[in-house]
Amino acid sequence: MLSSILGILSNDIAIDLGTANTLVYVKGKGIMLNEPSVVALVESKGTKLPYAFGAQAKMMLGKTPQDITAFRPMRDGVIADFKGAEEMIKHFINLVHKKKTLAAKPRVIVCVPSGSTPVERRAIQDAVESAGAREVYLIEEPMAAAIGGGLPVTEPTGSMVVDIGGGTTEVGVISLGGIVHAKSIRVGGDAIDDSIIAHVKRHYNLLIGESTSERIKKTIGTAHEKDTYNQHIEVRGRDMITGIPKEILLRSEDVIESILDPVFQIVTAVKDVLETAPPELSADIVDRGILLTGGGALLRGLDKVITGATGLNTFIADEPLYSVVLGTGKVLDNFQELKHVLFRQD
Ligand code: ADP
Ligand code: MG
Repeated sequence: MLSSILGILSNDIAIDLGTANTLVYVKGKGIMLNEPSVVALVESKGTKLPYAFGAQAKMMLGKTPQDITAFRPMRDGVIADFKGAEEMIKHFINLVHKKKTLAAKPRVIVCVPSGSTPVERRAIQDAVESAGAREVYLIEEPMAAAIGGGLPVTEPTGSMVVDIGGGTTEVGVISLGGIVHAKSIRVGGDAIDDSIIAHVKRHYNLLIGESTSERIKKTIGTAHEKDTYNQHIEVRGRDMITGIPKEILLRSEDVIESILDPVFQIVTAVKDVLETAPPELSADIVDRGILLTGGGALLRGLDKVITGATGLNTFIADEPLYSVVLGTGKVLDNFQELKHVLFRQD
């Protein structure tokens, strides 16, 4: 009786603490929060106090007065600013619980990049713990992405997942509930945005900001020449020579050219993993193909480029931005059955 009441009141949550976006899944309820991983702190009498989080803080990026700093506390998939990350996690956990928490502290599962070091993993675990969690477990991102994408991770068959986030791309081969082989590179959507900024600077003498380059990528960005559809977009920035605001027209073709390098690095990581995977699992991957998850999977034509380079079928997850948090949530919902994919960092 008591346990069934506690079950209903469970505050257990799964967190996808991404470089670009943080998502929170509440056990038995689903995704309850989806916000950019951005924090704004205000300086007051020598200490920094929380000022804004998520979408609200993202709008402040690059536009803050001196006493306020808006920034992304996660970089390359790991914590770049501990205080910022901790405040953000605390705020998001409180938001989903709406402070009706009773005394019960939640069990929390949070994902970490497969390429993160023990120190980086420990930092994520500590940040979630000090944000008020009762028990914290970690899960490797490719595993979470694969579970969220519906791959048969516990079966004796090789599944390949490529999760392209803001800061990292994680390539993993999974079989029998474990990651058999993985590679993580610090190239993702941010690197693509940076390449667009550099291209516009070089070819048009125009300085644009990160939000503008991300918008360019999402509207006319493409990795494959068959996916351009002659699209174009008006882009505003500052002329580097006159210093005056200026507007130019950018075409899809410009974007393909500008992002060749990061796209090449992502494809190379996929090929590296394929070339070094155990042969039996390679055979399974040839049969089953490659699953793409993460926001970067939405870059037009990227699936075609990967298929072209590997000869393998490539599938984009139904909701690539949700794969990791849904996978982590599935482990929370089926804790006894799937807890062997979780771990803690000492
Ligand atoms: P993270 O896990 O690092 O927080 P996400 O999986 O949330 O990252 O993906 C965020 C990345 O996906 C960002 O770089 C964003 O610009 C990119 N992204 C989102 N939508 C699109 C789109 N439609 N086309 C290309 N890139 C996209
Ligand atoms: Mg992610």
